[in-house]
Amino acid sequence: MQVYHPVCLTDYHLEHIYDGMKVTLLGTGADHCIPAFRCACPVCRDARKRGVNRQNSAASVKLPTGEIILIDMPPQIMMMLRRYNIADDRISSVLVTHKHGDHTLGLRYLFHGSEKKGFTVEEPVNLFIPNSTYKAVSKKLLSGRNYDLFPEQTDYYRIKFIKAYEKFIISGIEIIPLETGHLKAKAGGNAEEESFGFLIKNPGGNNFAYLLDASMNLPDKTMSLLKKEPIGCLVLDCTYSHTTMDSGHFDVDGVIKIKEELKPEKMFVSHISHKNMTFKELSESLSKYFIEMSYDGLEIDL
Ligand SMILES: [Zn+2]
Ligand SMILES: [Zn+2]
Repeated sequence: MQVYHPVCLTDYHLEHIYDGMKVTLLGTGADHCIPAFRCACPVCRDARKRGVNRQNSAASVKLPTGEIILIDMPPQIMMMLRRYNIADDRISSVLVTHKHGDHTLGLRYLFHGSEKKGFTVEEPVNLFIPNSTYKAVSKKLLSGRNYDLFPEQTDYYRIKFIKAYEKFIISGIEIIPLETGHLKAKAGGNAEEESFGFLIKNPGGNNFAYLLDASMNLPDKTMSLLKKEPIGCLVLDCTYSHTTMDSGHFDVDGVIKIKEELKPEKMFVSHISHKNMTFKELSESLSKYFIEMSYDGLEIDL
């Protein structure tokens, strides 16, 4: 078990201590967003008419100390932080789920931070990332620098490699990476690369589980762990309305099955693509199972 205390409590933190954790869903769309760029499908047309906006998926979790954890950094991350009033100077840690660009292209803002580029660095950010994900994204984003040569620790960020089911602690909060089987399903069952969801344990009892980009055949170990821990709030992938093969994502029937198996107190769907139903249709299909729609900017108190 690893323990990190990345941020010392400042006067600001002491003044703003509150009991719970607050999650903000910064984006709730799949790779192509809703509406997708110039797409004239019924879902995108309906979204333009009703003002539905789903950007790439990411979340922030505000801890009782006031420090903030980000889950994923999509390309829109800078605008999301401003739009939803997330104080970037309180972000102590970034957790990364997997290598795909809709979750990682915004990591360039972290990787490119250095004194040479004019940044004044007070505390480095801890980047919790699977090794295979770091390898893939650093090759893409570190301006051609070789992964093996590039120093992994800088004044601006500290890399903490995480492994499936090995818990780590951020300021007293226990976090468990859960394999979602997403990349394995995409590769026809043979991928070595990891794709993670996270179980964030709340000392107040309302545990938070975030599983996007997840295969409907969730690994047994992930399911048994989620059954063991009472879940206060589950945010689950619902990319498609219906899929016949293991696409590495959930569809509506798969989401309903998980609700019945895990019985979380509250459940939201996210990572919704334009290959799903319209907002109203999806909301009506899920509401009878007490599953709620997410939207960009949704705040959940735990
Ligand atoms: Zn995705
Ligand atoms: Zn569309």
